[in-house]
Amino acid sequence: MAQQMGGQPLIVLSEESQRTSGKDAQSMNITAGKAVAEAVRTTLGPKGMDKMLVDSMGDVVVTNDGVTILKEMDIEHPAANMIVEVAETQEDEVADGTTSAVVVAGELLGRAEDLLEQDIHATTLAQGYRQAAEKAKEVLEDNAIDVDVDDVDYLQRIASTAMTGKGAESAKELLAELVVDAVRSVEDDGEIDLDNIKIETVVGGSIGDSELVEGVIVDKDRVHENMPYFHEDANVAVIDDDIEVQETEVDAEINVTDPEQLEQFLEQEEQQLREIVDTLAEAGTDVAFVEGGIDDMAQHFLAEEDIIAVRRVKSSDISKLARATGARAVSNVKDLTEDDLGFAGSVAQKEFGGDQAIFVEDVEDAKSVSMILRGGTEHVVDEVERAIEDSLGVVKTTIQDGRVLPGGGAPETELSLALRDFADSVGGREQLAIEAFADALEVIPRTLAENAGLDPIDSLVDLRSTHDGGRTGAGLDAYTGEVVDMEDDGVVEPLRVKSQAIESATEAAVMILRIDDVIAAGDLKGGGSDDDDEPAGGPGGGMGGGMGGMGGMGGMGGMGGAM
Ligand code: ADP
Ligand code: MG
Repeated sequence: MAQQMGGQPLIVLSEESQRTSGKDAQSMNITAGKAVAEAVRTTLGPKGMDKMLVDSMGDVVVTNDGVTILKEMDIEHPAANMIVEVAETQEDEVADGTTSAVVVAGELLGRAEDLLEQDIHATTLAQGYRQAAEKAKEVLEDNAIDVDVDDVDYLQRIASTAMTGKGAESAKELLAELVVDAVRSVEDDGEIDLDNIKIETVVGGSIGDSELVEGVIVDKDRVHENMPYFHEDANVAVIDDDIEVQETEVDAEINVTDPEQLEQFLEQEEQQLREIVDTLAEAGTDVAFVEGGIDDMAQHFLAEEDIIAVRRVKSSDISKLARATGARAVSNVKDLTEDDLGFAGSVAQKEFGGDQAIFVEDVEDAKSVSMILRGGTEHVVDEVERAIEDSLGVVKTTIQDGRVLPGGGAPETELSLALRDFADSVGGREQLAIEAFADALEVIPRTLAENAGLDPIDSLVDLRSTHDGGRTGAGLDAYTGEVVDMEDDGVVEPLRVKSQAIESATEAAVMILRIDDVIAAGDLKGGGSDDDDEPAGGPGGGMGGGMGGMGGMGGMGGMGGAM
């Protein structure tokens, strides 16, 4: 593009670049953002539908999880990606509420579009939205319910709310129990690291056969068949070293001139390994988990000592084993002493999902647990796993914060009313933005109603009047269609899920609204159809044409038009 400067055209951008400015840029970005929200809207809530996503390799994912859908889709439009980031932030911060956050962001953009058309400036809108979001967070705080974090029943309700409508639903009660048990057992002085909960999925059996192993499952065989299958009351060594012959000095050359010398050399090696195994045996080791390899000869010696040894254990498992058994991970096996050993009531090799695995159980203080999720098919267990991850996240958040809100659209309805009052007190043009924000939040109860096959208008009217009457916890029971107290109904979610959703949705909407110029170095309109020219992992690579139609601006625009 060129601009005039002193009569000479001033070339600022290269010929390939594209520029869209002003209203065009705004409406293009808004359309893209709205299209993303539209793509996940039908999955919201207990009666939400699932999506089947097929990538270019033909791999299929069936899911109801907002962030998973958006990650699997091949979204290239930059503004659309900002909305995807809302879901990702939500996932990282609180694990749940990803669909809600995206749907709210889309609605904020939609309402903004109307106001832009009435010539309300984007900056005014942005300001109003920010004010509204601040106020909304205050109102949420005021409405939050304090939870006794030792109330297991209550935590289970929170765990199970996060699972409703997902593949896990059929065994919700059992799974909620497992989730709460798991989070509580890895809690360490108020710190909860969900990485200490290992999720194992097994195809076969039903979801209801899922279980929690308070200990660690290592997906490995013992290294030698002469080793025992199990030890009770086992002393456990955790070694982040290998049990191999030490290499001779780098450049030293060994000249073997006669057989005797060779024998001597081998004997030396054997001696080295023998000493290592003796060190383990003398310390009282029954089981050794080794991060590196174990020499054949050493395997044989270990088996003679009745030691169960496992090699090439993943380093994440090494740290879990150390935590669970209380062992100290030794980095030089020759230095191992009795004090380094941990303890497990039972260490056993068992069949697990068609393979062999070592179960380390009955540990003093698990601090690290394995959840075994079973299901009829791979797609089923994968979706159960995603639901469990949301559920683990909300239980963790609740234990940390101790504050929850009723679900089912109750907080959004309450916010909507409160923000309309607030808008009146603000006045000016921002008032319009705040009112738009208030309207936008109602997209949650409206969508819950729609997805449940209810009349959204009736439901909204009912919700509003109930809230007007002071019942702040009233929400929509998606199963009965009635407006009831959500806490009594057992539908409760962490406060942080709601406040985070509002925060990131607002940030993304504001960021998109404030853009009045899109300058792209390449061809923005390329999208899915151009994928072939792009090197793998190039800009917006993602699933590489998975859902080609969604890629690029043309695709997103098309989706927008279909709304
Ligand atoms: P998200 O990705 O936003 O968590 P979900 O599909 O999990 O999306 O839906 C969450 C919404 O469903 C929340 O607003 C929550 O309060 C609501 N919800 C959960 N269980 C029920 C229920 N039994 N009745 C009505 N709404 C429910
Ligand atoms: Mg959810």
